[in-house]
Amino acid sequence: MSVKRLDDCLSVREGTLYVEECAALDLLREFGSPLFVFSEDQLRRNVRRFQTAFQAGWPDGPVVVMPAAKANWIAAIQRILADAGCGCDVYSSGELTMALEAGCPPQWISVNGVPKDEDHIRRSIQVGARLTIDSLEEVDVIERAAAELGRTAYVRLRLKPVLANFVDHSDFVAEGLAPTDIAAIAYKGGLTFEQVMAVAPRLLHSPHVELVGFHQHHGRHHRSTRYWEAQMAAYAAEIGRVCQALGGYRPQEIDIGGGFAVPRDPFNAATNYGEPLQLAALHSVSKVMRLFGSRPRYAVMARLVDTVAGHPNRHPAPTIEDYAAAVTATLRRELPKHGVDPRGVTLQLEPGRSMHGNTGIHLTTVKAIKRTTTPIRWTVIVVDTTEFWFTGGRYEHHLHHYLFANKCDAPMTGKADIVGRSCYGDRLLPAVPVPDVAVGDVLALLDTGSYQEVSMSNFNAMPRPASVLVTGDRAHLIRRRETEEDVFRRDVIPAHLARRPIPRTPTDGQAVEPVAVARRQAEVAA
Ligand SMILES: *Cc1c(COP(=O)(O)O)cnc(C)c1O
Repeated sequence: MSVKRLDDCLSVREGTLYVEECAALDLLREFGSPLFVFSEDQLRRNVRRFQTAFQAGWPDGPVVVMPAAKANWIAAIQRILADAGCGCDVYSSGELTMALEAGCPPQWISVNGVPKDEDHIRRSIQVGARLTIDSLEEVDVIERAAAELGRTAYVRLRLKPVLANFVDHSDFVAEGLAPTDIAAIAYKGGLTFEQVMAVAPRLLHSPHVELVGFHQHHGRHHRSTRYWEAQMAAYAAEIGRVCQALGGYRPQEIDIGGGFAVPRDPFNAATNYGEPLQLAALHSVSKVMRLFGSRPRYAVMARLVDTVAGHPNRHPAPTIEDYAAAVTATLRRELPKHGVDPRGVTLQLEPGRSMHGNTGIHLTTVKAIKRTTTPIRWTVIVVDTTEFWFTGGRYEHHLHHYLFANKCDAPMTGKADIVGRSCYGDRLLPAVPVPDVAVGDVLALLDTGSYQEVSMSNFNAMPRPASVLVTGDRAHLIRRRETEEDVFRRDVIPAHLARRPIPRTPTDGQAVEPVAVARRQAEVAA
């Protein structure tokens, strides 16, 4: 049997796609289409690689991997992470609940974010989680809540080191060429030196609060290791500056945040590569050709449109090991330069996309193929998923690697837009190479393990698809498919809008059945 490994958890056997030991097509048959599929083995491997690589570079103290819950907060996924010895970066109260229920040790939970509600702060203190301070406003609330609860609040300060040595353009700003240092300043996270110094002395002297260290997170502006070296150099300098200003304070923990890329790196691929430039050329030629009338114009445009091709990112990102080496070497070199001894300091990291991205794929079935031949050639392949179930990715201009799960080895013979089922244009993959595709074929979008499932919406009143976890040759449902009833669950019809007695249509005299959901809701409201 021919077996080709694509990634740790993916392989192609006799031309069909496997996740661990499960055939993708079997998964669809059992659980329905479309489907999010996650690999337990891939997630555990990623955790081990982060733990091993960062610990190897940081002999000075413990390393705690605290994956960002927002990237994938499905309960079963969080259970695996807690079981594998991870902490957790949480933003919201819901994510805190999930991390605690998964069994994550509270002292390894970083409660990030601004604003934090008072209840959220109180609970964080009560359970002993780390509060990562990210606004001056929350300091009063923390002190008061800790005093009232008779507990110590363990806090860290989220710094905002200026990345003056890194001016490459930020991938976050897809529309322009914003330099990363400026884009990072514009992002809301973190406190400036002046803001830190406005509260740090008070935190150090508060009987209810213990300042245990520092945090930073700029996110994935750039995927290079150079970006990480620049971040860590700036962070070390900022930590040194704050410690000195506090009269020789020593942090117990230093959290470097997240923002490492996943190897196939779909982030911003939709804008970083060929298509936009080609489209710009097309646009200019199109304008000029208007002067010649529509027949010549379409003749020229058809030629040009044939050349337009989109494709996912072709350059692999650095590995987990590359990032670990860059981060730890820079920190260990730079911290002592700024008077901070790294010995005994716990190093924490919060990978999101790089922890989860390649743990998941999305399977979707081809439902229709529409071919246009005049005045230009264009093929549209309609699948049963939608960009509204990839909201996180659309927001970040993702372009995912893909293959047809039942035709992995088929040659690419044409070009098509692969579009979703919503009433939007829903271009999931614009103008990409495709094999000879038929209705019923199964498209696999790769690296959908982070930010996608957890950001789905119900646009077009569409029930959201299910998620399964593959473990070897077994697959378990970990989030069930929504029903239409789920979609309307939160709707309430006020009593004065309740439907009146069933109207009769003038034509056939038959009773018109009111929509079942509306009727049920009216009963609830009444
Ligand atoms: C989003 C986030 C992360 C994870 O970012 P990735 O780019 O997915 O690695 C880590 N820490 C904080 C505070 C975050 O907001």
